[in-house]
Amino acid sequence: MRFEKDIVFYINNNIVEKIDTCIKLASPNEASGFILGKIQEVNNNNGDFSYNYYSVSFHCIESSIGSTVSFLLDNDQKILELSEHLMKNKNLKLIAILHSHPAGTTPSSTDKHNMKYYHNSGLKKFTHLIWIIVDSRNKEMNGFIYLNNKLTQTKLIVSSYENL
Ligand SMILES: [Zn+2]
Repeated sequence: MRFEKDIVFYINNNIVEKIDTCIKLASPNEASGFILGKIQEVNNNNGDFSYNYYSVSFHCIESSIGSTVSFLLDNDQKILELSEHLMKNKNLKLIAILHSHPAGTTPSSTDKHNMKYYHNSGLKKFTHLIWIIVDSRNKEMNGFIYLNNKLTQTKLIVSSYENL
């Protein structure tokens, strides 16, 4: 898989705790949620740009549907409404959709299908969306983005930082 070093996704410890709780609440189903935050564009002066994603809040989605995947596929309208609502209230962007896997953080073929679908949906808010997959067992996380029509892994850093 391609790796994009110029996209860095920062998650602070406080959000990691909320993700853990979301996974516990969803168990035995897989958890999913939205991360809202800010994207900072950095000009590297050589015509290159890098992008820092800063997570500000995490919103656990309570779904009665057993599978996260079907939740995403069947509810894109709901996702839009919810993200619109959250952004109006907090002046933040939807920067990531997160879901958990029972084991591992590799995107499934359905995940890949969804990423491509949202990327090509023509909706601007999904063009730079990061997909985060969490391993339910050890809470390991990885971030992915669809870039130039290719599935790409991003840097993901858990750190403590002040909200911007
Ligand atoms: Zn998945």
